[in-house]
Amino acid sequence: MRFPASLHFSITSFFIRNALKRRKRFPLVLMLEPTHRCNLLCAGCDRIRLQAEEQSADLSLRDCIDSAIESGAPVVTITGGEPLLYQDLRPLAAELLRLKRHIYLCSNGLLTESFIEEFEPHSRLTLNFHLDGMEENHDRIANKPGTFAKALESIKKAKRRGFRVSTNTSVYKNSDTRELERLFALLKGLRVDGLLVSPAFSYERVENDIFLTREEAVRRFLDMAPLFERFPFISSPLYLDFLMGKRKMRCTPWGNPTRNPLGWKSPCYLITDRYYSSFAELMEETDWDRYESGADPRCRDCMVHSGYEATVMRTAFSNPKDLARLALWNLKKS
Ligand code: SF4
Repeated sequence: MRFPASLHFSITSFFIRNALKRRKRFPLVLMLEPTHRCNLLCAGCDRIRLQAEEQSADLSLRDCIDSAIESGAPVVTITGGEPLLYQDLRPLAAELLRLKRHIYLCSNGLLTESFIEEFEPHSRLTLNFHLDGMEENHDRIANKPGTFAKALESIKKAKRRGFRVSTNTSVYKNSDTRELERLFALLKGLRVDGLLVSPAFSYERVENDIFLTREEAVRRFLDMAPLFERFPFISSPLYLDFLMGKRKMRCTPWGNPTRNPLGWKSPCYLITDRYYSSFAELMEETDWDRYESGADPRCRDCMVHSGYEATVMRTAFSNPKDLARLALWNLKKS
């Protein structure tokens, strides 16, 4: 199976509970950024610049836990910044597991060694490594030689210790399909449990000449189509259809709300109009219709998974054919 049965059960029961309560909008994945500090300065990331400009202190452990409880999302993606720089990462992960949350712990792989050695693998914990190309290009995007080699070493170590491991690859204007094919083959050979893919998107504070327009993204992902059959992707087939221009979708940014040291970020992981002090305020005060309709010009080229994978789940739970397709896809191994 591509995803553990326990994750399926959590998501399905979560949808049913929310449907019974007649809630129109609810989060599936909390994007939790305990720190904006990072040990890299990647080309496509705005968080390190944000840290330098706004000097935000890390979230306290209590704030992190309260945010997970407040949002109620069954999945928590711990991201940043580099989460391994967060001093309370271990108690945070342990408490989230105790609260029965599924965790995706995102890392560049440079500091994961001690976590892998000290923390016990768990079926609800996945270590997610960011890899944007083969060695030369990945290290260039990360702005640090040796990053690729270290991430690979961490992946091998995590697999040996029995962790679930996935990777996330952002596709840029200059990404080469054949190179990505070699990367995915390498990761499959290392028995990585799942591959995620998304077009890199023009964050507000980052220069945009490295990002694909929506039209370019569709062409690039169509070119990559054969890879989606050959390698163990966990980007859903409905989302991949959207990336290949075969399906229209509307963003559901409330499906992946972001909590970081500055507050609850509105409207989404990528763009910021304002911060709220509580999750309830974020949900009540944000003009969701504006972003769901695509009326905001900043959304024009955006196709990122944090905006659209929640749309996939919502679509599937209202369409039995799509739900059956997702269920069969999850059972199939690549
Ligand atoms: S499409 Fe969605 S995820 Fe993308 S920038 Fe707009 S609101 Fe954010």
